[in-house]
Amino acid sequence: MNCLFCKQKSDKSQSIEHIIPESLGNKNHILLKCFVCDKCNQYFAIKVEKPLLEQPYFTHLRNRSRIENKKRNVPTVDVMAVGLRPMKAELSFDKKEGFSTTIPDDTDANDFFAGSVRKLIIPVLDSPNENNLILSKFLAKIAIEAIIYRVLDDQILVGELWNHPGLDGLKQYARYGQGIRFWPYHQRRIYPEGAVFKEHALEATPFEILHEFTFLSTNESNLYFIVCIMGIEYAINVNTPETSTYSNWLDVNNNRSALDNTNEVSLY
Ligand SMILES: [Zn+2]
Repeated sequence: MNCLFCKQKSDKSQSIEHIIPESLGNKNHILLKCFVCDKCNQYFAIKVEKPLLEQPYFTHLRNRSRIENKKRNVPTVDVMAVGLRPMKAELSFDKKEGFSTTIPDDTDANDFFAGSVRKLIIPVLDSPNENNLILSKFLAKIAIEAIIYRVLDDQILVGELWNHPGLDGLKQYARYGQGIRFWPYHQRRIYPEGAVFKEHALEATPFEILHEFTFLSTNESNLYFIVCIMGIEYAINVNTPETSTYSNWLDVNNNRSALDNTNEVSLY
């Protein structure tokens, strides 16, 4: 068996590839051992996912939504306690204790505990930086893996797509940063973070959507991978590094999302 990305032998590889990282709450969307070799798996973990998850937006998102990482920890973020004077503090989350605030050692604890803290300010970072190279490589990687994931039940299609030359540009970009300096993507919020949905016609439990993905074929026969993570939709063109055909599709379709599910009603 050959690795999906580098095409080297991958039979001895032990890594299970998470399409969307566990630290963004994904336990289900995985590719089997050998699909992505250990080297590529490590590359994506260290060079793409780690720096992405450490970006301020994703750290704050994981903190406020209490999304655990692989070690089942929720990241801590910097906040500001305003008392007699503003003080830096840290907001952390523990399953037993809930959210708690601590101050760094060099702060005068009297200020903090003498009841002088009037408010706690948590910066709300509501979207990732635009033109974000790491995010673009991340989207490229999950797009390639999601294509295979989507057809897993059909071995013939898996075989056809595995080495399809039309995917080589995006693969090279995701794995080696080769070919093009920056593969653009389209980003927009399609529902508020924390929005609650319910299935139509069912007495079902309301739910939040952590992430969901789909594919969209535009008239220009461009294939877009579309993923929504906590209300922000990202679209990346699998074939060509441009997004104008997606903008055109949105214009014609009244800005609806290809992820829209008519069976779901929003309760937010
Ligand atoms: Zn590989």
